[in-house]
Amino acid sequence: MRNLLKLIGVLISLLVVAVGLVNVPAVQDKLLDRAVTRQLLNSPTDLFEDDAMRVVICGSAAPMPVRERASACVMVIAGGKFYMVDTGNRSTNNLGLWAIPFSRTGGVFLTHFHSDHIGDLGEFNMMTWAQGRPAPLNVYGPQGVTEVVEGFAKAYGQDSGYRTAHHGPILLNPARGKMIPREILLEGDSAIAMDDGDLKVTMFSVNHAPIHPAVGYRFDYKGRSVVISGDTIKVDNMIKYSQDADLLVHEALAMHIVQQMQATAGGLGNERIESILSDIQDYHASPADAAVVANEANVKELVLYHLVPTPPNSIAEKVFMRGVSDIRASGVTLGYDGLTYTLPLNSTAIIQEDMNNR
Ligand SMILES: [Zn+2]
Ligand SMILES: [Zn+2]
Repeated sequence: MRNLLKLIGVLISLLVVAVGLVNVPAVQDKLLDRAVTRQLLNSPTDLFEDDAMRVVICGSAAPMPVRERASACVMVIAGGKFYMVDTGNRSTNNLGLWAIPFSRTGGVFLTHFHSDHIGDLGEFNMMTWAQGRPAPLNVYGPQGVTEVVEGFAKAYGQDSGYRTAHHGPILLNPARGKMIPREILLEGDSAIAMDDGDLKVTMFSVNHAPIHPAVGYRFDYKGRSVVISGDTIKVDNMIKYSQDADLLVHEALAMHIVQQMQATAGGLGNERIESILSDIQDYHASPADAAVVANEANVKELVLYHLVPTPPNSIAEKVFMRGVSDIRASGVTLGYDGLTYTLPLNSTAIIQEDMNNR
């Protein structure tokens, strides 16, 4: 007992000293130096070096306000580069927090031009350029992508000028800071958006009516594959282009929750919100719809993202997923920012981890 009291006394003394030390500027500077060094050395280059295909959910939320999640964004890593499918608001911040090496930027693929899918395009272009992207940014998309790219370029034009003037044209070469719109026209219900011999990206039409155009993308890399839905109702083309994919990243709107929210808004006399909640139900898929698509397409793993509404806790997650296990008992995951999948080559393995814990 006496020894225990002695130990507690020593610990309290140490604590008092430590608390005192953190007020000393020289100690603060040392701690700061260590933190900056750790941050600068903390670049997950192993994500790029073993030639596996990887998929990271870089934005799992939808337009409704939510803490600590970005809007629609999926990152695909293949062949030493990373590609963005949509750049929802705050997604660039996620990439920065995970220390993704921006010099490895491969390109952006836009599914459609709703603000929750394109909001961060200007930030993404600016940040990847400032941190060493070696070439202009290709932005692929359906008809209309040129207008979106030109609009962002105009809005960020003055800032681009400030940065080159401030840091010099060698560090911030204006030619590399540009975005190049790559408008892909569908031939029938699909088109090859990109093919470099190893990585093939297929664009296909989905149904997000009355929004046109709206597309999804399938990435095939050396025998592994991922499909990203963008925004759509349950539609045959999702099944057709998801056939036998390793991973399907599908949007989801929980109809039963949205209908309950709509009724509550109506009860409170908030007609505007009631009306919006009513409108959005006809152009999204439910979690159960996504599960049916995954089953019919023989997909190995289904990930839900673009969650409407985004569940704020584990109870809400259970409500969101209600009924899904009856349709698909396993191989389905509710997405979150940082959810990461590794698909090793010459393998059927699908390895799940959390980018936030790397
Ligand atoms: Zn949309
Ligand atoms: Zn959306």
